[in-house]
Amino acid sequence: MKDIQRLFPSEDGNGERRDELITLLTALLKNMDDLKDINQVTLGPPKKKSSDFYKHLTTSSFVPQVGGSFTDMIDSMTDLMKGHPFQSRNFLTNVLPMASTPGLIGQFTASLLNGNNLWDVYGPAGAEAETKVIAMMSKIAGYDSERSWGYTTWGGQGAVFTGLRLAIAKYAPDAVAEGVPNNLYVFSSEQAHYSLLKSAEATGIGRNHVIKVRTKADQSMDEDDLEEKLIKVIEADGIPVYIVATTGTTDNFGIDNIQQIKATAEKTTRAHSLPSAHIHADSALGGFYAFFNDYDFTTNSLQLEDDVLQGLQKIQLRMKHLHLADSLCFDFQKLGQTPYVTSLFLVREKQDLRLIDLDASESPYVGDRGYGDYHTSYTLECSRMASSISILAALNLFGIEGYQVLLANYVRVNLAFRKELMERLSNISVTNHDNPGPVTAFRLYAKDLDWQMESAGRLTKQQITDTNQRNEALFEYFGEHRARIFLGDTKKFDMVQYVDGDSLLPVYVSKVFTISPYTETEHMSAVVDFIEEAVKYTEKVEEPILC
Ligand SMILES: *Cc1c(COP(=O)(O)O)cnc(C)c1O
Repeated sequence: MKDIQRLFPSEDGNGERRDELITLLTALLKNMDDLKDINQVTLGPPKKKSSDFYKHLTTSSFVPQVGGSFTDMIDSMTDLMKGHPFQSRNFLTNVLPMASTPGLIGQFTASLLNGNNLWDVYGPAGAEAETKVIAMMSKIAGYDSERSWGYTTWGGQGAVFTGLRLAIAKYAPDAVAEGVPNNLYVFSSEQAHYSLLKSAEATGIGRNHVIKVRTKADQSMDEDDLEEKLIKVIEADGIPVYIVATTGTTDNFGIDNIQQIKATAEKTTRAHSLPSAHIHADSALGGFYAFFNDYDFTTNSLQLEDDVLQGLQKIQLRMKHLHLADSLCFDFQKLGQTPYVTSLFLVREKQDLRLIDLDASESPYVGDRGYGDYHTSYTLECSRMASSISILAALNLFGIEGYQVLLANYVRVNLAFRKELMERLSNISVTNHDNPGPVTAFRLYAKDLDWQMESAGRLTKQQITDTNQRNEALFEYFGEHRARIFLGDTKKFDMVQYVDGDSLLPVYVSKVFTISPYTETEHMSAVVDFIEEAVKYTEKVEEPILC
């Protein structure tokens, strides 16, 4: 038994055992540092994987009869690190953040305590930290923190899901007991995250009851189309219960106008004597820009450059409406720079959560005792990790200003990238030009074509398909050379109309997503060099086919 006890932290706080743990951590950190290279986006060279890589793992993996040593364990952990993506300056693929040091220490603290965030008797640290971060971020979002509530959950997707649970329960309080009525409908823009589809399925509403609303040139929801579609549903005896307003779309940082969406929805439902639909701001990604809601753009204490300031102000004009949403989300594992998964779901009115809460008598193990005041029986999870501890550590260490500096730099770097890209590569269009933010989407065209024409529906079906192919070739090149500069791509950036037909076609674009604190404006020339090289290469490949 003594041998087994050595696999645990000490019971009595002895220094020797602590030193053992520190030695292991030092070894692990050192091994990771040895693999780092600022000119690579992986830890060491990328792993070469044969086509039967996972199959081989399946056949060759067994639980060892006798456990190994700590040294073996560090070796095997280090092996897992090898070839792993790493967020150095050229890591520009998507919103996969580098976990900050406060975020890591917070997570480590939560793991050391290993409390269960389900109940404050089992996880007092989590309950305390969670209460604090709910209040802190409610204030940032503009909620009244005396009325709001929330919890940390399984991702931005979990937030979209619980928003829908609330929406159903608000319209049909009996639904929690009787099941969901079959005439409920939910709405989001074409640019929204697919979370809503899964949520519709899982709540029993059904994916066919998800109505997609068209977007405008800036990739935000078209309120006129929303109104039309709401009316159409209502006239067919459907009930609109839930509208997801995406505030910062994942591919192009389009920001829905919550104020207008809410006004449109309320006008429409009221006219048909229906209750208001629940509005969820899917602010998982973009909500962090609410850190600028109280920034004084006139005195500009951070001395931000004019173009950065204008970009931020444009974002803030939309983010200031966050508080109008009935619920919202902050994915700290995105722009909050904490480890996976640290998503915070907030509701404006805490009493909404009562609608989906379990009765105390239904959770007999915990919560209905005479002790403990904090029992999260409204969450879909039972046991919960205390990810709020990581969030708390990050919020306290960065402060509002720290986040402002980081978030402003993402805007700055993207503006610099767009400028240089446009100056140097005339057959590339930035397709989210209207959206300053952490991401730039761009698309390669044949001579004389561009995004302006395409998004206005002035290209033919063939031209759009050809352009998609051209961009797919670019993806291939980027993918093959991703160890150097890791760009992102998407095959459904937007849906466009074309002149010789009346359906919609998807648009393929590449993306630069800045998520590393180490990416700065001076690194953008090399990125444009890389894109130029890829364009030249794909053109060369194409020539023989064209001739
Ligand atoms: C990332 C993202 C999601 C999904 O969040 P997870 O944390 O991955 O579950 C949902 N909506 C938006 C807008 C996102 O950016």
